[in-house]
Amino acid sequence: MSDRFLRKACPSVIVEKLVAKAVLERNLVNNGDRILIAVSGGKDSTVLAWALSAIRPEIKKTYELAALHISSDFCACCKKAILSKRLDEWGIPFIDLFVPIISRLKEGRRMNCYWCSTQRRAELLKYAVENQFNKIALGHHLDDVIETFFMNMTGKGQLSTMPILLRYRNYPVSLIRPLAYLEEREVIACAAEKDILKAACTCPYGIKSVRRDIRARIAGFTGNSGAVKRRILAAIDAGNLLEQ
Ligand code: SF4
Repeated sequence: MSDRFLRKACPSVIVEKLVAKAVLERNLVNNGDRILIAVSGGKDSTVLAWALSAIRPEIKKTYELAALHISSDFCACCKKAILSKRLDEWGIPFIDLFVPIISRLKEGRRMNCYWCSTQRRAELLKYAVENQFNKIALGHHLDDVIETFFMNMTGKGQLSTMPILLRYRNYPVSLIRPLAYLEEREVIACAAEKDILKAACTCPYGIKSVRRDIRARIAGFTGNSGAVKRRILAAIDAGNLLEQ
Protein backbone atom coordinates (compact mmCIF):
# COMPACT_ATOMS: atom_id res chain seq x y z
CA MET A 1 0.00 0.00 0.00
CA SER A 2 1.46 3.39 -0.97
CA ASP A 3 1.88 6.00 1.76
CA ARG A 4 -0.77 8.20 0.05
CA PHE A 5 -3.44 5.48 0.23
CA LEU A 6 -2.23 4.22 3.61
CA ARG A 7 -2.87 7.60 5.21
CA LYS A 8 -6.58 7.24 4.37
CA ALA A 9 -6.81 3.99 6.39
CA CYS A 10 -8.05 3.84 9.99
CA PRO A 11 -5.60 5.07 12.64
CA SER A 12 -4.61 1.65 14.01
CA VAL A 13 -3.86 0.35 10.48
CA ILE A 14 -1.70 3.43 9.80
CA VAL A 15 0.25 2.79 13.01
CA GLU A 16 0.66 -0.95 12.33
CA LYS A 17 1.83 -0.42 8.74
CA LEU A 18 4.25 2.42 9.52
CA VAL A 19 5.72 0.69 12.57
CA ALA A 20 6.20 -2.48 10.47
CA LYS A 21 7.77 -0.35 7.71
CA ALA A 22 10.22 1.31 10.14
CA VAL A 23 11.09 -2.04 11.72
CA LEU A 24 11.79 -3.72 8.37
CA GLU A 25 13.49 -0.78 6.60
CA ARG A 26 15.75 -0.01 9.55
CA ASN A 27 16.26 -3.62 10.67
CA LEU A 28 15.06 -2.74 14.18
CA VAL A 29 13.84 -6.23 15.14
CA ASN A 30 15.42 -9.62 14.48
CA ASN A 31 14.44 -13.19 15.27
CA GLY A 32 15.21 -14.06 18.88
CA ASP A 33 15.28 -10.45 20.09
CA ARG A 34 14.25 -9.72 23.68
CA ILE A 35 12.75 -6.22 23.58
CA LEU A 36 12.17 -4.12 26.65
CA ILE A 37 9.61 -1.36 26.02
CA ALA A 38 9.93 1.72 28.24
CA VAL A 39 6.36 2.58 29.24
CA SER A 40 5.47 5.78 31.05
CA GLY A 41 1.71 5.21 30.98
CA GLY A 42 1.27 7.92 28.35
CA LYS A 43 -0.21 7.47 24.87
CA ASP A 44 3.06 7.20 22.92
CA SER A 45 4.68 4.32 24.78
CA THR A 46 1.35 2.49 25.19
CA VAL A 47 0.62 2.74 21.45
CA LEU A 48 4.19 1.52 20.82
CA ALA A 49 3.62 -1.53 23.06
CA TRP A 50 0.37 -2.35 21.27
CA ALA A 51 1.97 -1.90 17.83
CA LEU A 52 4.99 -4.09 18.59
CA SER A 53 2.67 -6.89 19.59
CA ALA A 54 0.25 -6.30 16.66
CA ILE A 55 2.86 -6.33 13.85
CA ARG A 56 4.10 -9.87 14.57
CA PRO A 57 2.14 -11.50 11.69
CA GLU A 58 3.17 -8.74 9.26
CA ILE A 59 6.90 -8.72 9.95
CA LYS A 60 7.11 -12.51 10.42
CA LYS A 61 9.74 -12.44 13.18
CA THR A 62 9.79 -14.17 16.52
CA TYR A 63 10.72 -11.97 19.44
CA GLU A 64 9.86 -11.46 23.09
CA LEU A 65 8.36 -8.29 24.55
CA ALA A 66 8.24 -6.95 28.11
CA ALA A 67 7.34 -3.47 29.35
CA LEU A 68 9.23 -1.63 32.08
CA HIS A 69 7.70 1.27 33.99
CA ILE A 70 9.90 3.33 36.30
CA SER A 71 8.13 4.57 39.42
CA SER A 72 9.82 7.28 41.45
CA ASP A 73 9.65 9.02 44.80
CA PHE A 74 7.61 11.85 43.21
CA CYS A 75 5.00 12.08 40.45
CA ALA A 76 2.31 9.41 40.86
CA CYS A 77 0.39 10.33 37.72
CA CYS A 78 0.50 6.97 35.97
CA LYS A 79 -2.50 4.70 36.34
CA LYS A 80 -0.42 1.56 36.60
CA ALA A 81 -3.24 -0.95 37.19
CA ILE A 82 -4.96 0.03 33.93
CA LEU A 83 -1.66 0.05 32.03
CA SER A 84 -0.71 -3.38 33.33
CA LYS A 85 -4.16 -4.78 32.35
CA ARG A 86 -3.88 -3.44 28.78
CA LEU A 87 -0.37 -4.84 28.40
CA ASP A 88 -1.58 -8.20 29.69
CA GLU A 89 -4.32 -8.21 26.99
CA TRP A 90 -1.57 -7.79 24.39
CA GLY A 91 0.56 -10.58 25.95
CA ILE A 92 3.22 -8.21 27.30
CA PRO A 93 4.52 -8.75 30.86
CA PHE A 94 4.57 -5.56 32.96
CA ILE A 95 7.48 -4.72 35.25
CA ASP A 96 7.28 -1.85 37.74
CA LEU A 97 10.69 -0.69 38.95
CA PHE A 98 10.99 1.82 41.78
CA VAL A 99 13.87 4.31 41.50
CA PRO A 100 14.42 6.84 44.34
CA ILE A 101 15.31 9.73 42.04
CA ILE A 102 14.99 12.60 44.53
CA SER A 103 16.63 10.64 47.37
CA ARG A 104 19.72 10.13 45.21
CA LEU A 105 20.34 13.86 44.87
CA LYS A 106 23.53 15.03 46.56
CA GLU A 107 23.07 17.59 49.32
CA GLY A 108 22.49 21.08 47.99
CA ARG A 109 21.51 19.81 44.52
CA ARG A 110 18.04 20.61 43.19
CA MET A 111 15.82 18.22 41.35
CA ASN A 112 15.48 18.86 37.63
CA CYS A 113 14.42 17.13 34.41
CA TYR A 114 17.99 16.40 33.31
CA TRP A 115 18.83 14.58 36.56
CA CYS A 116 15.57 12.64 36.43
CA SER A 117 15.92 11.56 32.81
CA THR A 118 19.56 10.47 33.17
CA GLN A 119 18.66 8.41 36.26
CA ARG A 120 15.76 6.80 34.42
CA ARG A 121 17.84 6.07 31.32
CA ALA A 122 20.64 4.53 33.42
CA GLU A 123 18.19 2.29 35.29
CA LEU A 124 16.49 1.25 32.07
CA LEU A 125 19.82 0.25 30.55
CA LYS A 126 20.93 -1.54 33.72
CA TYR A 127 17.68 -3.49 33.90
CA ALA A 128 17.92 -4.48 30.22
CA VAL A 129 21.53 -5.69 30.55
CA GLU A 130 20.92 -7.58 33.81
CA ASN A 131 17.84 -9.31 32.41
CA GLN A 132 19.26 -10.23 28.97
CA PHE A 133 17.18 -7.82 26.87
CA ASN A 134 19.11 -6.87 23.72
CA LYS A 135 16.77 -4.06 22.56
CA ILE A 136 15.13 -1.15 24.35
CA ALA A 137 12.13 0.36 22.53
CA LEU A 138 11.22 4.02 23.13
CA GLY A 139 7.98 5.75 22.11
CA HIS A 140 9.36 8.83 20.35
CA HIS A 141 7.57 9.77 17.15
CA LEU A 142 8.36 11.87 14.05
CA ASP A 143 7.54 15.19 15.75
CA ASP A 144 9.90 14.35 18.66
CA VAL A 145 12.73 13.53 16.22
CA ILE A 146 12.26 16.78 14.27
CA GLU A 147 11.85 18.95 17.38
CA THR A 148 15.03 17.47 18.90
CA PHE A 149 16.90 18.11 15.64
CA PHE A 150 16.01 21.83 15.67
CA MET A 151 16.54 22.12 19.44
CA ASN A 152 20.05 20.64 19.14
CA MET A 153 20.86 22.83 16.14
CA THR A 154 19.65 26.10 17.64
CA GLY A 155 20.48 25.40 21.30
CA LYS A 156 23.74 23.41 21.07
CA GLY A 157 25.03 24.19 17.60
CA GLN A 158 24.93 20.47 16.76
CA LEU A 159 23.54 18.46 13.87
CA SER A 160 22.03 15.61 15.86
CA THR A 161 18.73 14.12 16.94
CA MET A 162 17.19 11.01 18.50
CA PRO A 163 18.39 8.15 16.27
CA ILE A 164 15.89 5.51 15.16
CA LEU A 165 18.58 2.90 15.89
CA LEU A 166 21.36 3.43 18.39
CA ARG A 167 23.86 0.64 19.08
CA TYR A 168 25.61 1.13 22.42
CA ARG A 169 29.34 0.53 22.13
CA ASN A 170 29.81 -0.56 25.74
CA TYR A 171 26.64 -2.59 26.28
CA PRO A 172 25.07 -5.51 24.38
CA VAL A 173 21.90 -3.44 23.88
CA SER A 174 20.47 -1.22 21.13
CA LEU A 175 17.87 1.55 21.42
CA ILE A 176 15.09 1.49 18.83
CA ARG A 177 12.36 4.05 18.05
CA PRO A 178 9.76 2.22 15.92
CA LEU A 179 7.26 5.15 15.98
CA ALA A 180 9.66 7.45 14.15
CA TYR A 181 7.67 7.40 10.87
CA LEU A 182 4.46 8.49 12.63
CA GLU A 183 3.31 12.00 13.37
CA GLU A 184 2.08 12.65 16.89
CA ARG A 185 -1.46 13.24 15.61
CA GLU A 186 -1.43 9.75 14.07
CA VAL A 187 -0.37 8.27 17.41
CA ILE A 188 -3.11 10.26 19.19
CA ALA A 189 -5.74 9.05 16.69
CA CYS A 190 -4.65 5.43 17.21
CA ALA A 191 -4.75 5.86 21.00
CA ALA A 192 -8.31 7.20 20.72
CA GLU A 193 -9.38 4.30 18.48
CA LYS A 194 -7.83 1.67 20.76
CA ASP A 195 -9.20 3.41 23.87
CA ILE A 196 -5.69 3.84 25.22
CA LEU A 197 -5.43 5.79 28.41
CA LYS A 198 -4.51 9.44 28.03
CA ALA A 199 -2.50 9.87 31.22
CA ALA A 200 -1.38 13.49 31.13
CA CYS A 201 1.95 14.00 32.84
CA THR A 202 1.45 16.10 35.94
CA CYS A 203 5.10 16.01 36.96
CA PRO A 204 5.83 19.18 38.96
CA TYR A 205 9.40 19.37 37.58
CA GLY A 206 8.59 19.12 33.90
CA ILE A 207 9.81 22.23 32.09
CA LYS A 208 9.09 21.80 28.44
CA SER A 209 8.93 25.43 27.33
CA VAL A 210 11.90 25.11 24.93
CA ARG A 211 10.30 22.13 23.21
CA ARG A 212 6.92 23.90 23.14
CA ASP A 213 8.52 26.95 21.58
CA ILE A 214 10.33 24.90 18.90
CA ARG A 215 7.11 22.97 18.21
CA ALA A 216 5.25 26.22 17.50
CA ARG A 217 8.02 27.43 15.20
CA ILE A 218 8.09 24.13 13.28
CA ALA A 219 4.30 24.28 12.92
CA GLY A 220 4.78 27.79 11.48
CA PHE A 221 7.20 26.88 8.71
CA THR A 222 5.81 23.41 7.89
CA GLY A 223 2.18 24.52 8.04
CA ASN A 224 1.78 21.29 10.06
CA SER A 225 2.08 19.35 6.82
CA GLY A 226 2.97 15.70 7.32
CA ALA A 227 4.58 15.60 3.87
CA VAL A 228 6.92 18.48 4.78
CA LYS A 229 7.81 16.81 8.11
CA ARG A 230 8.63 13.59 6.28
CA ARG A 231 10.88 15.52 3.89
CA ILE A 232 12.69 17.01 6.91
CA LEU A 233 13.13 13.45 8.24
CA ALA A 234 14.51 12.40 4.83
CA ALA A 235 17.01 15.28 4.98
CA ILE A 236 18.05 14.27 8.51
CA ASP A 237 18.44 10.71 7.24
CA ALA A 238 20.59 11.88 4.32
CA GLY A 239 22.93 13.36 6.93
CA ASN A 240 23.23 9.86 8.48
CA LEU A 241 21.80 11.05 11.79
CA LEU A 242 19.15 8.37 12.27
CA GLU A 243 21.43 5.39 12.80
CA GLN A 244 24.42 5.15 15.13
S1 SF4 B 1 8.97 15.69 33.27
FE1 SF4 B 1 9.19 14.92 35.38
S2 SF4 B 1 9.23 12.69 35.15
FE2 SF4 B 1 9.66 13.54 33.12
S3 SF4 B 1 11.92 13.65 33.02
FE3 SF4 B 1 11.19 15.65 33.78
S4 SF4 B 1 11.28 15.45 35.98
FE4 SF4 B 1 11.34 13.39 35.18
